[in-house]
Amino acid sequence: MEELGFESLLGEMRESFESGRTRSLSWREAQLKALLKLFQEKEEEICKVLKEDVGKSYVEAFRDEVGVVTKNLNSSLKDLKTWMAPERVSLPLVTFPARAELVKEPLGVVLVFSCWNFPIGLSLEPLIGAICAGNAVVLKPSEISPATSEFLANNLSKYLDNKFVKVIQGGPQVGEKLLELKWDKIFFTGSPRVGRIVMTAAAKHLTPVAVELGGKCPAIVDSLASSRDRKVAMARVAAGKWGSCAGQACIAIDYLLVEEKSASVLVELLKTAVKRSYSGPENMTRIVNKQHFQRLSSLLKDQEVAKSVVHGGSLDSTNLIIEPTILMNPPLDAEIMTEEIFGPLLPIITLKKIEDSIKFIRARPKPLVIYAFTNDELLKRRIIEETSSGSVTFNDAIVQYALDTLPFGGIGESGIGKYHGRFSFDMFSHKKPILRRSFLVEIPFRYPPWDERKLQLIRRVYQFDYVGLILCFLGLKR
Ligand code: NAD
Repeated sequence: MEELGFESLLGEMRESFESGRTRSLSWREAQLKALLKLFQEKEEEICKVLKEDVGKSYVEAFRDEVGVVTKNLNSSLKDLKTWMAPERVSLPLVTFPARAELVKEPLGVVLVFSCWNFPIGLSLEPLIGAICAGNAVVLKPSEISPATSEFLANNLSKYLDNKFVKVIQGGPQVGEKLLELKWDKIFFTGSPRVGRIVMTAAAKHLTPVAVELGGKCPAIVDSLASSRDRKVAMARVAAGKWGSCAGQACIAIDYLLVEEKSASVLVELLKTAVKRSYSGPENMTRIVNKQHFQRLSSLLKDQEVAKSVVHGGSLDSTNLIIEPTILMNPPLDAEIMTEEIFGPLLPIITLKKIEDSIKFIRARPKPLVIYAFTNDELLKRRIIEETSSGSVTFNDAIVQYALDTLPFGGIGESGIGKYHGRFSFDMFSHKKPILRRSFLVEIPFRYPPWDERKLQLIRRVYQFDYVGLILCFLGLKR
């Protein structure tokens, strides 16, 4: 579509938005129900396009995308009325008689950029939030998952009110054209590099942005006293690394931090877990395309890095499959330890004491998630208090993404803005403060001419000293 096309499309959508139709609960509910219908009627087609684009198995596609989004739609339908209701706010006595509330206002026409690794979820989770909040939405899915983008373009226009929801397909050039326009919010999921391009473009129009980015998510694995806990921990680490899109996930475990003394035991357990669940192409997603395959292969080319491989390492360039690969202590200045891996390679870094992991993490950009597998309450407290990350998950990985009652998002290099469930509604709403005063009571000392007594009265107002205020007003001393 031409640039002029985008501008007139935005103009039309703004006009539609101005009609006020999206503000009603019934319109929003109708869109959510239509999306549920889409999922009921097209589950197989969705799983098929996910297989075609990213190689996900049916179960993985259902668990990570269809299931998560359906659950979100159902809980949004249940809670939407409560989210939309104005929130009463308490006021100090001095304003009496008055009332205050926060009214939730839609922002207008919002632009959503999504990413290819969870192309259904990362498109529809923000779209659902934007619709719940009463906005019109333009979705630009990723060109790297073209079958899913095509599916979304064909079906969202049929199932949803297409005056208010549009899908625009295309790559970076289309993205750049869209960024030239003035939106009411831009929600971006992708790399920090493009996140910066989005923020720079948004700054021209003072458009608010949310950027959901990536980075290196560490997992601290304590020595763990019981052998059962160690086994469960390693099964969960394996799932957190290889179980979703072959590690091509922003919240996948990027590397492990373990104590020297327990490293060999943990590695053996990890290898067992990998062999059990992630061997064979039916249990492992492929790498999305040749470029990403080459990027990941080149991480292993460094001689020192190649020497550190203790499991896996085989590369199938025809089918774009990389075997789950474990590396022990690759050099910290190698690319595999300085850049986000976003694939099935897992470096393990050994430390003298597990507490040293805090210093290790603090010396690097703030991650999207810090995982820690431990029963040590003091260590948990130290991780919470002494590190900063989008979130922290103890004794599991990835599952936090599916919980709508916990906000999802990064901090610092890993992103700006939190969403999911109610937090998505808030992300796309303006909570407008409304103050309702009456003419009944008038306080004369609020107006000039100023004198010392008025200053004393105002001072007592700010100190909430109402007894002092009355005494001062009557010219009495305490
Ligand atoms: P990317 O940043 O290249 O692309 C994301 C989106 O931006 C796509 O829709 C793409 O078409 C568009 N785009 C690309 N270049 C653009 C440009 N110049 N102008 C405007 N739009 C442009 O995504 P990627 O690098 O393939 O994705 C991987 C990254 O995304 C990783 O860093 C990963 O951690 C991150 N990610 C984050 C989350 C999250 O929720 N935090 C989820 C998935 C992926």
